[in-house]
Amino acid sequence: MELHIPDGINYECSGCGKCCSGWAVPMTKEDYERISVKDWGAVNEKYKDKKLFRKLKDSQRAGGLYTHTIVRGDDGGCPFLENNLCFIHKSFGGKFKPTICQLFPYCFNETPSGIYTTVSFYSMSVIYNSGRALTAQKEVLEQKWQEFQTINPDHHPNWSLLQLTVGEPITWDEYLKHDEKLLELLQTHKLSIYERLLAGSEYLVSLRKVPPQPIALSNQAALNHLDKHLLVALHKIYFPVKPLGLADPDFSIGRFLYQLAFQGTSLAFPGCSYSIEELNKMPWPSNDLEIQDLLYRYFYSRIFAKLYFGAGFGQLSLITGFHHLCLIAALIKLQSKAWALARQAPTVSLMDVATTVRQLEKGLGETRLGGYSAAVWELLMSSPQRVKRVLACT
Ligand code: SF4
Repeated sequence: MELHIPDGINYECSGCGKCCSGWAVPMTKEDYERISVKDWGAVNEKYKDKKLFRKLKDSQRAGGLYTHTIVRGDDGGCPFLENNLCFIHKSFGGKFKPTICQLFPYCFNETPSGIYTTVSFYSMSVIYNSGRALTAQKEVLEQKWQEFQTINPDHHPNWSLLQLTVGEPITWDEYLKHDEKLLELLQTHKLSIYERLLAGSEYLVSLRKVPPQPIALSNQAALNHLDKHLLVALHKIYFPVKPLGLADPDFSIGRFLYQLAFQGTSLAFPGCSYSIEELNKMPWPSNDLEIQDLLYRYFYSRIFAKLYFGAGFGQLSLITGFHHLCLIAALIKLQSKAWALARQAPTVSLMDVATTVRQLEKGLGETRLGGYSAAVWELLMSSPQRVKRVLACT
């Protein structure tokens, strides 16, 4: 199958060790059986009597490849990271490491028109676009894809359920035409990334058999109650205050109704919370070219690799998957502003956005939408009016 590689995305490992920190490394059943049988205490005194592995909760396992995680060390990093080197790799070779570590940060998405590749924005090198262009790493990507297939022989995403929106199925070839247009709109560099995403939403919505009513200007003026609760609910998933282990991406209707009835509309951060209005007072550096470039590459990578709808993300319809990206774009702004406020800085810096994008990438990687949760997302995110309001009011 043809390997599709995105332009303008670079990566090369800088050995900073940051990819091995800040998350509980997930393990497949085979990883767990291979690695946990070793007597790590006998290999290295520092692992003696330490709980190194943990079984995932059922809600965290649902539909995913992973069954266990490595328990994070006291410093929040992987306990096997020593002087920025992997102790498992050093002791037993690269192929002994957890699957995700062998492939990281390369991502592969098998589709009817080939394998779409990209890299995870959890990597600092990817964030700063340093190293060799992916387009110059075709051989490495081919080799990693072979490894991915060997490790996950039964992983064949199902793209047959493609829908523009609920009840409007589309073919893969029809989707590819829309994909071309979305990528073209995303490359309209004279617009901000937020305007480009809005243009993408308007394009997709115009394809609906029954187009929605044009939005009244008064409806764009402010976020409504549901908009705010939806942002808070997503913020809880992607930016948890206590990110212990894997995120719990449950977005059940029960939990959302509880949120609506009993929870406020402030966004929680470590040690404090901010309302969306408070965060909106912090200026956004619209002319910062490095921030614009990071956000462009981030959304380009997701859209290019088809990691936002269909089999690429929770079997969401194309419109809902794209709208979810738009809401994410708003959350990036809000979360970056909160980081800037925490530093008592007058405005958002590239570092705030980079930290936010890495957090988000981790959260998205861990999110698994069940059929029922995906139905709730369709209900809440298909509205173009909501996307307009959120993009205009954050
Ligand atoms: S197992 Fe090794 S490569 Fe994987 S996160 Fe831990 S230290 Fe890093």
